[in-house]
Amino acid sequence: MPLRKKRRDFGWLYIVCAGLLPLVLGIVCTAIEARHMVRQQQVATATILLAQAEKMSDNAWNMIAELGQYPSRPCSNIEQHLQRIGTLNAYFRSVGILQGDNITCSSAYGISDGTLEAMMMRPLPITGKASWSLSLPGTSGVPHRPAVIFVRQLPDSSGVWAVIDGQYLMDFMHAMGESRGYQMSLQFGEGAIIASGKSEAPVERYMQSTPFQRESQRYPIRVSVIVPPAELIAAWRQALFIFLPMASIFSIMLMILTANWLRRRISWADEIRRAMRNRQFSVHYQPVYNNTLARCSGAEALLRWQLPNGEMVRPDIFITHAESEGVIVDLTRHLLELMSEDIASWPVMPGFHLGFNLAADHLQHADFTQDIMQFAQAIRDKQMLITLELTERSLIKDGEAVARKLRFLQAQGMKVAIDDFGTGHCSLSYLMTFPLDYLKIDRGFINAIEGLEIETPVLDAIINLCHKLKLEVLGEGVETALQLTYLQQRQVTFIQGYYYARPVASQTFLRWMEEHGTQPLSGMTSAPH
Ligand code: C2E
Ligand code: CA
Ligand code: CA
Repeated sequence: MPLRKKRRDFGWLYIVCAGLLPLVLGIVCTAIEARHMVRQQQVATATILLAQAEKMSDNAWNMIAELGQYPSRPCSNIEQHLQRIGTLNAYFRSVGILQGDNITCSSAYGISDGTLEAMMMRPLPITGKASWSLSLPGTSGVPHRPAVIFVRQLPDSSGVWAVIDGQYLMDFMHAMGESRGYQMSLQFGEGAIIASGKSEAPVERYMQSTPFQRESQRYPIRVSVIVPPAELIAAWRQALFIFLPMASIFSIMLMILTANWLRRRISWADEIRRAMRNRQFSVHYQPVYNNTLARCSGAEALLRWQLPNGEMVRPDIFITHAESEGVIVDLTRHLLELMSEDIASWPVMPGFHLGFNLAADHLQHADFTQDIMQFAQAIRDKQMLITLELTERSLIKDGEAVARKLRFLQAQGMKVAIDDFGTGHCSLSYLMTFPLDYLKIDRGFINAIEGLEIETPVLDAIINLCHKLKLEVLGEGVETALQLTYLQQRQVTFIQGYYYARPVASQTFLRWMEEHGTQPLSGMTSAPH
């Protein structure tokens, strides 16, 4: 329907928002989901790394326990044993014996006279404990490769130590994190940090990944895993790849739903009001032929609604909606204004019938008489005869009050017609209730005419009724010469229909009146377009 298209001045904004909503939500949700996924990977990696560090510590403390049998023996006796266990057990760089802080025997150098501090290349930690472990950036023998030292001081001031090569831990971290570019680090006690993976250039705050840290329950070991922003972006991209097709479908569905909702939400009443403000309504005038005078003696004013895109909205549709949505009174007032504007440029037309349609709501409205009188006043100088057309389509409830108003207007020189006669439920009761001057026979009855000699019983009955009630009668929707002749033969005075003339705009109507207004209607008379 053409009207629908224009019912969306801001509708497109709703539709765009509805389309964007799933996409924006999706982008936010996938970002959260990506963070969550990356966090889980971080936790899993840290857990595995910590388990590996604990396993190495288990090995180291087992080694320390085994070394506990050697401190009392001279280095020359145990040197070979130390070399063997230090070499054959996995992970170890060297193991050895202490006397006080001096290393008395080592698997790497045999009898030794260095201190533990010298080997660790740093002061001894103050732990207050007999057993401790510490990560080191290197040892005196291998200064550039990290290591972890495990030390146990025995009660007789001797002690044992074992050094695990940090390369094992670094290789392990490397194997776990290389493909993802994770940065991982390990720290034993308050020692040096053993790290793997390169640290990235600093990035925007919102792209930073928080480091995840975990501590061992059994040993003083702390691990940390940092996921680089690139990994976060990759996870986000992957989630988007899965989500976006779904979001697009959802987005299209939501747009369609919004468009439908808008279509239903914006009422006809709003549209009609807006159209009145924007002057989209105009009036067309359809000439009425008078058989007695053999000329045009009047016209019916009919509202037209043209949309900005040029399309027309059908009057029966917008009038029905205006009636049901309570804007018919305003619309009729608008019609009266438009007619006043048109008629201002018309010549004086004494006795010319100007008919227009009125809805039940308006007839029952308190201002009805005043509205009509105001209009009559506005066109007074043209000396026309106003005809009020009442339709049966909408029921007039307060018949008596309306009848009083009509009688008043009749007293002011106006005429009253019943329109679409025979199509409603109360044709006959209207005849009794209202003071009528004209009866307009609905097009449907005129259509039923099949031939001059063939009877059309209902139409004939309506015409007879009019004659009996002394009502002027008008045939609506006359489209053929046959229909015209049939009605003429039955003394139907007024003829309205495409056969005579179509409804046309004010200026066209005036031109038509000049050319055809006084001409008699014959089978060959053409209509204005
Ligand atoms: P209506 O009052 O019965 O008006 C006559 C309708 O028949 C008009 O339709 C007119 O264009 C059409 N018509 C005239 N001659 C012929 C013909 O030979 N053949 C055919 N097929 N149609 C013909 P329109 O203008 O579409 O209006 C339809 C209805 O809308 C009107 O019926 C009237 O009830 C309502 N309407 C139109 N303008 C107004 C208005 O200003 N106020 C109110 N309340 N109702 C209006
Ligand atoms: Ca009418
Ligand atoms: Ca009618």
